[in-house]
Amino acid sequence: MHPESPCLIDFVEERLSRTAREAVHQHLDGNCIRCERRIQTYRHLVACLGQGSLPGAPERLVSAAISLFPQRRRRPPTRPMLPPLRTLPLVFDSYTTEEPRAAVRSADPARYLRFAGRGVEVDVKIERQTTGVRLTAQAIDPASTPLAHCEYQIVEARHELIAGTCDALGGFAATVPWVNQLEILLATPSGPVRMILPATTLS
Ligand SMILES: [Zn+2]
Repeated sequence: MHPESPCLIDFVEERLSRTAREAVHQHLDGNCIRCERRIQTYRHLVACLGQGSLPGAPERLVSAAISLFPQRRRRPPTRPMLPPLRTLPLVFDSYTTEEPRAAVRSADPARYLRFAGRGVEVDVKIERQTTGVRLTAQAIDPASTPLAHCEYQIVEARHELIAGTCDALGGFAATVPWVNQLEILLATPSGPVRMILPATTLS
């Protein structure tokens, strides 16, 4: 049986799975002249469509191509479109404020951070523990309403360390090994946000 047109177009565009590609190769190895010619035609059409023009292509081929391609575009995306990830600016860091830092630190060695952006404010407390660092955070909106039950992830250089859901007060806590590329990702009602923790360790 000859492969269907969308399959051959995917073959030309090198978008087939390995198995499907091998099936087409096997079919062509059987010297199917008809499919050889179809592939040549699709190669030509794909190249022409890529350039946004169809110089000298027979009208029959043009309409065939146009009838094929919109069909492919109408396929639903395999994943839902995600809104863009916003990086929340760090607006407060207890280690770098103008306050007398030494006094603050000796009284309370924890580090306090605040990230804030449109629609979300997140306070993060960082404490040293023998096994790593303890992160305690709370997310609220500008009207101080907790962002309850948001999903969060703590990632290290894009590898997920911990994932969970905020409690009813927008709070979550986790102990993670200390690394220099910690980020907190939070799925807020106004879209996903990322907070990049300062690279310096607790001192
Ligand atoms: Zn064939």
